[in-house]
Amino acid sequence: MATGKIGVTTENIFPVIKKFLYSDHEIFLRELVSNAVDATQKLRTLASFGEYKGDLDDMRVSVTIDTDKGTLTVSDHGIGMDAGDIDKYINQIAFSGAEEFLAKYKDSANSIIGHFGLGFYSAFMVSKKVEILSRSYKDGAKPVRWTCDGSPEFVMTDEGVEKESRGTDIILYIDDDSKEFLDQSRIDTLLKKYCRFLPVPVVSGKEKEWKDGKMVDTDKDNVVNATEPLWTRKPSDLTDADYLRFYHELMPGADDPMFWIHLNVDFPFTLTGILYFPKIHNNLDVRKDRIQLYCNQVYVTDQVEGVVPEFMTLMQGVIDSPDIPLNVSRSYLQADSAVKKISGYISKKVAEKLASMFKDDRKAFELKWDDIKIFIEYGMLTDTKFCDAALKFVLFKDTQGDYFTLEEYKKLVEAGQTDKDGNIIYLYATDMQAQYSYAEAARAKGYNVLLMDGQLDPHFISLLEQKQDKTRLVRVDADIVDRLIVKTDKKDAGLTPLQVDVMSTLFRSQIPALDKAEFVVEFESLSPTDVPATVTQNEFMRRMKDMSAMQPGMNFYGQLPDSYSLVVNTAQPAVQTAIQEATDALKEKVEPVRAEIDTLNASIADARKHMEEKKDDAAEQERLKAEVADAEKKVGELRDKQEKIEIEYASGQPRLRQIIDLALLASGLLKGEALDAFIKRSASLL
Ligand code: ADP
Repeated sequence: MATGKIGVTTENIFPVIKKFLYSDHEIFLRELVSNAVDATQKLRTLASFGEYKGDLDDMRVSVTIDTDKGTLTVSDHGIGMDAGDIDKYINQIAFSGAEEFLAKYKDSANSIIGHFGLGFYSAFMVSKKVEILSRSYKDGAKPVRWTCDGSPEFVMTDEGVEKESRGTDIILYIDDDSKEFLDQSRIDTLLKKYCRFLPVPVVSGKEKEWKDGKMVDTDKDNVVNATEPLWTRKPSDLTDADYLRFYHELMPGADDPMFWIHLNVDFPFTLTGILYFPKIHNNLDVRKDRIQLYCNQVYVTDQVEGVVPEFMTLMQGVIDSPDIPLNVSRSYLQADSAVKKISGYISKKVAEKLASMFKDDRKAFELKWDDIKIFIEYGMLTDTKFCDAALKFVLFKDTQGDYFTLEEYKKLVEAGQTDKDGNIIYLYATDMQAQYSYAEAARAKGYNVLLMDGQLDPHFISLLEQKQDKTRLVRVDADIVDRLIVKTDKKDAGLTPLQVDVMSTLFRSQIPALDKAEFVVEFESLSPTDVPATVTQNEFMRRMKDMSAMQPGMNFYGQLPDSYSLVVNTAQPAVQTAIQEATDALKEKVEPVRAEIDTLNASIADARKHMEEKKDDAAEQERLKAEVADAEKKVGELRDKQEKIEIEYASGQPRLRQIIDLALLASGLLKGEALDAFIKRSASLL
């Protein structure tokens, strides 16, 4: 292996340019056209100060291909350069700048790619020879020709050089391995990408028309750019139709956006741009290429990750700032401190705009809310500063369709929905069809129920709990209504332990088998007019599962079965009848078995006690151990026997099934065969 260092002399600057900048060869065109545009605008500026008094007729920049000569030429009618200018700007500055740079960054190829202001010299990435033919705007300036074949020797002369008009031609003798840049359609594509919104007309090739079954060139020059893109114009001069037209130019084929924000900032950055809020359909369609970054109307990139706040990758549009460095790689862009500040600033501006939309026309804001909530929640989840700003205008919608700010909502529910430990409980539903009867029950109790059916709501709910002290969010079906917000200690269900044991088995045995679901049976004495039973789903487990559905790394929760409770209301008359009937019917069969179990359990306890006392007596230990094992086995058998008796009884009790099925029905869990059986049973009970 050979080691060495990059020698930093002008001798090998071109190989370095070629090698390190390989992947981005095409940007040479952006560089040259930008230079041409700059030169044109400089002349305009001089004219406006009265320092240039000549004509400003044809200011267009042109890009022309000569396939015979193998050249690509970028021409402008800007300020031009005389021999002194070329020496100063091309020969000295660029070379010395590059040398200094390479000396500093010789150890890191990446930072060379990142930092290196390519400018004019990027032409050498695609050319075997570059020629500058220029004539300065200054009176009596002599046209000059500069030629360089990539070695540090250049030739510059003003002898016998002809150039009639002011301005500069940069003529590239395209390298054999870069022939693609002699293809007009390739150049058109590049110009469309980088030069689409440059402020000076850029012409290349001819406009085309459809003739005799194919596209043919007309004799009209093809202008590739719109010189006054919308973001550079005053918002007060623009109509909605203008914004929509521009949007569709940027995003062909997209649906109309919901609304937009026209950014126009002078301090502490110069930044303009238009951000559109598209309608997000059912899936979270995060794409990172929908905001384009420009630097003085020159396209920089559409890879804005890290450059704009993450949540804004849901938005579409353009951002233009002269503070965005042009010639850098994306990783460098992200690390750039000016860019970071810009990102924070954009986020702040978006928050301000949303806040003013809310303040100026709350009704209109509410109308948009359902569609924009995903942006705002995403922003709040990923950007703390935005979150703090958004807490003032984030809205909550309840199941009646009313909207509240956080503060308003807190006021609304504080009195009625604070539990015995002082937590304010926000109740919510995620699906008004599936959780209808739970939401109804909560409302009947005077509670308000929020609708949290957005894609990001599971995460947003956790965020709210973090941000709001002593606040918990509980889904309406997380418990029976009386236990959703526990205000006093609970009432006794009024059953004996034996009744709880027996009735649990009876109910559990009759719950139809559901895929990936587990049930426990609980008893509560509620109001006699309440429903006989309710199915509830543990809030914690459900949230974990909801989140795991959205986040890859949380698969573990996704695999677990859903855990439900069947809460039976022991005060409800039908339930009371069922319990009474079961107690009566099973008395004779179950009680003797239970008595036997009790006796055995007592003897097991006895034997254990003896074992403790006779620790040293090995033979006695042995005997007692066997006795316990024997008794335990018998208890097991007796329990099975008891259960069999109970299940046999339960299966002959349509009332039990009916109570369960009603609860399943209310929670949307009764389906297929079980639903069919329920309907038939109901019919026969009629
Ligand atoms: P940069 O544009 O970043 O300054 P370049 O290497 O692209 O670096 O150009 C160096 C300088 O050469 C420019 O600043 C400008 O003064 C001069 N220059 C380049 N192209 C032109 C042109 N088409 N017309 C007039 N001057 C030009």
